[in-house]
Amino acid sequence: MDRDTLIRIAYERFAGFAKPVRCTLHDDDCPDCREHNQTLCLADHRSLSIEQIGSTSWSPIPHMSPAAMAHFMPRLMELALKNTADVDGGPFAVRFIHFVLEGPAGNQFQLFAEAHRDLVFGVLTTLKEKMADLIETEGWRAELETALGRWGLAGVTPSALAAKESETK
Ligand SMILES: [Zn+2]
Repeated sequence: MDRDTLIRIAYERFAGFAKPVRCTLHDDDCPDCREHNQTLCLADHRSLSIEQIGSTSWSPIPHMSPAAMAHFMPRLMELALKNTADVDGGPFAVRFIHFVLEGPAGNQFQLFAEAHRDLVFGVLTTLKEKMADLIETEGWRAELETALGRWGLAGVTPSALAAKESETK
């Protein structure tokens, strides 16, 4: 499956997750979450910018609630697949691997159904196919394999994903 098709399917599959009123794990009593929630309130899953995602040391993503993660995930996938540079000039694709490294058992992914987990696996597989050299250079190959192992429990491949997609048409 090509990159743009994968991105289109991601927005379709996650479309049911409306933007939550509150986007962070904690309420305003947590100063970090208060600020990150304000940032996320200014965006939606189509408009979340690489500036709003911020640096490796200051980013709303690790503070997102499960509902916010499900809402914003297609945008994170899009930025990773398009090999966008983050605000520090590093590849967002590597940060995507970091954010999903915990696998589907992670608290932030508890709203994901099989169709959503398949997509994470599809994105990681595509990163491996298209950006292997970059990921190797960044020193993230082992983590990518770990993430693939955790998300690929069902053994679903992007081609199987494409077949499933055409079944539903
Ligand atoms: Zn917090």
